[in-house]
Amino acid sequence: MNKRTHLIKPLLGMDYGVISHGKGIYLYDEEGNSFLDGCSGAVTANIGHGVSEITEAMVNQANQVSFVYRSQFTSSSAEELAERLAQSAPGDLDWVFFVNSGSEAMETALKIAIQYWQELGRPTKNKVISRWMSYHGITMGALSMSGHVIRRSRFTAMLEQYPTLSPPYCYRCTFKDHCPNCSKQYALEFEREVQRLGADTIAAFVCEPIVGAAGGAVVPPETYFKEMKAVCNRYDILFIADEVMTGIGRTGKMYAMEHWGVVPDILALGKGMSAGYTPMAATLVSDRIIQTIERGSKIVLSGHTFSANPLSASICLAVFNYIKKHNVVENAEKSGAILLRGLENLKSIYPIIGDVRGRGLLTAIEFVQDPLTKEPFPLQNEVTNRFIRKCYEEGLLVYTAAGGLNGVAGDAVIVAPPLIIQEHEVQILLDKLNKGLTELVSELATEGLY
Ligand code: PMP
Repeated sequence: MNKRTHLIKPLLGMDYGVISHGKGIYLYDEEGNSFLDGCSGAVTANIGHGVSEITEAMVNQANQVSFVYRSQFTSSSAEELAERLAQSAPGDLDWVFFVNSGSEAMETALKIAIQYWQELGRPTKNKVISRWMSYHGITMGALSMSGHVIRRSRFTAMLEQYPTLSPPYCYRCTFKDHCPNCSKQYALEFEREVQRLGADTIAAFVCEPIVGAAGGAVVPPETYFKEMKAVCNRYDILFIADEVMTGIGRTGKMYAMEHWGVVPDILALGKGMSAGYTPMAATLVSDRIIQTIERGSKIVLSGHTFSANPLSASICLAVFNYIKKHNVVENAEKSGAILLRGLENLKSIYPIIGDVRGRGLLTAIEFVQDPLTKEPFPLQNEVTNRFIRKCYEEGLLVYTAAGGLNGVAGDAVIVAPPLIIQEHEVQILLDKLNKGLTELVSELATEGLY
């Protein structure tokens, strides 16, 4: 390993193993090591690896046609997938715009929101309000919306200053003196921000239902979304839910917003939609917005060469069918509850775990130096990366969620295995986490860091 090759990898100089194949919740490398995929890659491989139904759908579609250009033709697989998504989505999210990544889905959401207000003769409504400790993608518009300090840092000069609101982060709540009525305070903060900027300048409010990569499975308080939606309604602001990570069953519901009964105007999907079998993502849009555009300029000013690619659409359709046929969403809820109980048990054993949290199979562990003061570890101690390495040595993959809030707090690791994981496999995962934790604590102690 550690060969210099021609492929630019995210971390130059890091050891990257070569995966030869995958089956179910396991990945196997060329050296014969196996890994329990405890984070589904980047919370993506929702139905596990090597599913033959998906391969068959791929081959069938490829034998018919692999590419048609979206401005000239449509395809039966793209049409059927759009119909299935619209039927499964809450409220009047009846329209689907296909793209190729979560970032593009969020770019499209932003553009459609701005266009909607233009069609209504209100072109000054062209900014969004978003929250710190959030991640909406790496392209410039999506990064502008993202409250992720480290990922923004090199490009601040080119970015809009969209994130201003506090994340609803119960473990380190901005409004802890108001507990358990903090939701009203978050809504008040939002309303003040709208008033400061002027409602006439705000197109949309953007949020992840459960914060993913920027914080680690941060679940908001129960009434948070109802309160935030009320502010949106009061000031004519669209509600954009970024369900790139949470959508398609990850949290034990098809769409995470269903947990709180709040219907967004625009909803972005990615990752689990194709379960990693192809690059594919989508922006779901409410009937009201599309009707407005139909009455106006009639054209959605966005799109990519590969949008609505028939091969990708057929793969997503096969994933969708698999999820329904095998009750995958129900399993995510059941296995997620077992996983969270197991994590709570680990928390009671290891004081280095300050918080465990999550919904369904999107869960996280947050490390602290002192559980009483919640003092985080200095970032240079790289506690998250060390833990990920320890787990890797135990044959378990987990995912980092560090540095999202202010580059200091939020030293968290995401545990999010494929949604097909069974109870006995959750137990194997927990045993490996336990071993990783023992190793981590002993290493930190040896170095005098803990
Ligand atoms: N939104 C959220 C909530 C995400 O988690 C991600 C990816 N981590 C994105 C957007 C960007 O998706 P992609 O990496 O596919 O561009």
